[in-house]
Amino acid sequence: MSNPLYDALFAPHEGQQSTFLELPDGGTISHAEFLEMAARMANALADLGVSTGDRVAVHIEKSPHALALYAACVKSGVIFLPLNTAYTARELAYFVDDSGASIFVCDPGEEEALRPIAEKAGCPLRTLGSNGDGSFTELACTMATRSDVVPRSRDDLAALLYTSGTTGRSKGAMLTQNNLLSNAEALVDAWRFTEKDVLLHALPIFHTHGLFVATNIMLLAGGSMIFLPKFDLDSVLAALPRSTSMMGVPTFYTRLLDDPRFTSDVAAHMRLFVSGSAPLLAETHERFEKRTGHRILERYGMTETNMSTSNPYDGERRAGTVGFPLQGSEVKVCDPDTGVELPAGDIGVLWVRGPNVFKGYWNMPEKTREELREDGFFITGDLALIDGDGYVQIAGRGKDLIISGGLNIYPKEIELFLDALPGVRESAVIGAPHPDFGESVVAVIVPETGHAIDVDAIKTAAREHLAGFKRPKVFEVVDALPRNTMGKVQKNQLRDTYAKVFQG
Ligand code: ATP
Ligand code: MG
Repeated sequence: MSNPLYDALFAPHEGQQSTFLELPDGGTISHAEFLEMAARMANALADLGVSTGDRVAVHIEKSPHALALYAACVKSGVIFLPLNTAYTARELAYFVDDSGASIFVCDPGEEEALRPIAEKAGCPLRTLGSNGDGSFTELACTMATRSDVVPRSRDDLAALLYTSGTTGRSKGAMLTQNNLLSNAEALVDAWRFTEKDVLLHALPIFHTHGLFVATNIMLLAGGSMIFLPKFDLDSVLAALPRSTSMMGVPTFYTRLLDDPRFTSDVAAHMRLFVSGSAPLLAETHERFEKRTGHRILERYGMTETNMSTSNPYDGERRAGTVGFPLQGSEVKVCDPDTGVELPAGDIGVLWVRGPNVFKGYWNMPEKTREELREDGFFITGDLALIDGDGYVQIAGRGKDLIISGGLNIYPKEIELFLDALPGVRESAVIGAPHPDFGESVVAVIVPETGHAIDVDAIKTAAREHLAGFKRPKVFEVVDALPRNTMGKVQKNQLRDTYAKVFQG
């Protein structure tokens, strides 16, 4: 028996570029060196007694050795569980405990802060750091064991990845080898990746976007990555002329556009800019195309479903949409109450099916039964419609739907209206508890730099364009919307902030 994910991603394959990672200090790591790093870590995991099916919780800053530990886990048949290094001790304690991790790996220097969490969860803490000379501290110090590639089937779990926690407590999504492999194959094909590609990688690697979309694609295609620790304008602008492709969240693109150094010359060598994880404003699309001649390709996915839809590589990349289902995926829009499929143009809940869809939530059998149907469809909780040409439009999250006086209000509709007004940079519309209507509408608005917002003018425009029940009753002007590391607007936070605006 083989290990399909390991064989496809990590085992040397014909035609791959010699370089795998290009680092900010100018150093490089070849595919062969990366494989050797991973092999040593797999030996260390075996020495530590970690075995098939165990969870390895990883709390390491973005680095080549953090990525090599992912490869080592796949090789050893153990489940990789990356954690956001921005999490607080309290948050981390939940993940380590909930996952029942059998080892907790951190950067050197973090032991003191993390030991209490590890001890409480009964999970040994190990450090993993690079010594800068190709060797590693503690975890990989041993070469005593020589572990082989552990055979796995496509249905075996490869990773436990927690969702971003945008709508509530993060849930652990159980991802199989097949989920990851089929998605990487579909994306390499859809986005035409080859060993000639150089991907600018500025995303974190604890999230599906940076880990399973960007990295798996490049491993499968045999190309290389300019591996930046984070999105930093100076480094990104310096790397773009040597790159062919970039994956980003919408804030990457708005930050580039805000910098006058970002010109069409800088982007001349690029063949593909991809956006996802949060909605890309139509205005960003237009500004980007005007500035660079490139049309950003927007796609849609979730931790649970990997990537499900994408705008076409050839053909119209339609702003405000996330394109069509990827090869092997099916999507439909259903009535939230009856589950009946809705006709084109109607808003409902998006359902997704295919080899990309996860196996269920860790430790949450009931929630899994509710959302992952027996017929294989996963009920995403996102609202969407499919337009007359088959393009999927995300209409917001089901949990963000506002119900005022018994009427449904889609915040996205009001946000699109507000965003198009002069002087408005972006907006977020939420519902706040209201004594008469249950909920009523609050608009939080970010002005364009240097613009003052004229709330009275916005109210007049709203009276003309929006039915009374949809019109925001309160307007709050702020400098910036609260976002997480992936650029997702934290509406929960806004709802807390404005919870009392209609009271008293
Ligand atoms: P949680 O499930 O814990 O509340 P989360 O849903 O934000 O957090 P992720 O799995 O990281 O966690 O994000 C998936 C969600 O991101 C999707 O359900 C969707 O709402 C949003 N999303 C992803 N891509 C896009 C896109 N192109 N346009 C609009 N929304 C997107
Ligand atoms: Mg989610």
